[in-house]
Amino acid sequence: MLHPLDLPTVLLLHKLSFFVAALCFLYVRSQSRESVGLGFLAIGFFLVAMSSTLVSVGKAFQGLEYVLALAGNFAGLVGYSLFWIGMCRISTQARKRREWLVLLLPVSVCAGLFFSGLYVSMQVRTCVFQITAASLLFAAAYTVYTDRLIEPLPVRKALAGTIAFAAFLSALVFVGILFPDITFVSARNAFFVSIVCHFAIAVFVLALVKERAEEGLRRLADLDVLTGVHNRRSFSLRLPEQMRQGDAIVMIDIDHFKRINDGFGHLAGDEVLVRVARELSQRIRPNDSFARFGGEEFILFMPATGLEDAMSLADRARQSVSAIRHPIEDQKVVATLSMGLAVCEEKHCTPHALMKLADMALYASKASGRDRLTVYRPEDFSADSSATTRVRHAS
Ligand code: GH3
Ligand code: MG
Ligand code: MG
Repeated sequence: MLHPLDLPTVLLLHKLSFFVAALCFLYVRSQSRESVGLGFLAIGFFLVAMSSTLVSVGKAFQGLEYVLALAGNFAGLVGYSLFWIGMCRISTQARKRREWLVLLLPVSVCAGLFFSGLYVSMQVRTCVFQITAASLLFAAAYTVYTDRLIEPLPVRKALAGTIAFAAFLSALVFVGILFPDITFVSARNAFFVSIVCHFAIAVFVLALVKERAEEGLRRLADLDVLTGVHNRRSFSLRLPEQMRQGDAIVMIDIDHFKRINDGFGHLAGDEVLVRVARELSQRIRPNDSFARFGGEEFILFMPATGLEDAMSLADRARQSVSAIRHPIEDQKVVATLSMGLAVCEEKHCTPHALMKLADMALYASKASGRDRLTVYRPEDFSADSSATTRVRHAS
């Protein structure tokens, strides 16, 4: 037979849950280099836990009990403000100085209670405390939720939902004090459920740090370090096992890139590579795949595009790159591209075979003067003839 816990026991557990969550944040902070915000969460929760202690200790000091109770509420609201700052920082991974302005909230709320004399009423103090805490928690939940558009980690919804629920519980306590007759849930039950919320917040913060670290590793494995576009490995993984009719592959190579390196140095060459990669990646459509194939070579996969569209898309990308004037040592350097395009004409082709054909077309572009797009056509590349002498240029 289970006996319901009495309110003092629930309040003690409630306080302990803040401590446990704070310790959890400190542990994650010590283990993770991406620790921005976790310290704020820990200090915030410690302060909230301490605030109720201050209120209870105050009862032993006659004459000072109201001031100490107000000090307890102030500490608690500073704690929730720091929790808000911590959540914003964890969510956005950025430190903003203006976040500190949130501390004006506990200062103004408690100053208002003090100078109006209302601080002597426990009911008013608790109401103001709970509604301010609910607002700060709700603001934290909103930030975590809306930042999913910038960093769509799966755990964001669960974390935001839990914080919002904790805000809702604080609001319920507020309503319960204000309108005792229409309470849907007792203060004891609201505090009990919020204990679970604190543990859930700690677990979800932990999950957020873990998901972010995994996402970082995935990006490291998938993206080219220099240019930030996909690398050859992730490109290959994204290719279908079988190409279908109309799928197109374009092999791309920067012309005379060695001259840029030799003339201006490797770092200048790197800058050109980055700009070319950025320009090309901005040209691709949502379903296309683009990657650095190696060195100064790139590859583009355009599914279900057909010859005409693939030619025009690739050639426009080529022209936009050659229109860039790279500012190097007071000069405007131009980097042109040679491209080779192959389109799957059968019902099915293997990616490897199509890449090989696109590569042949690329070398034909090189052989016939560079700065151009060559389309692979079987009649131009027959086995017994030199492809380089019989290519047809698309441009
Ligand atoms: P072509 O028109 O025939 O392609 O001439 P090219 O000079 O571009 O071709 P080549 O293959 O002779 O030279 C490619 C150069 O690209 C050689 C290599 O040092 C340089 N390269 C490869 N990767 C990088 C890189 O990450 N950064 C820089 N700066 N250079 C690179
Ligand atoms: Mg090359
Ligand atoms: Mg080259």
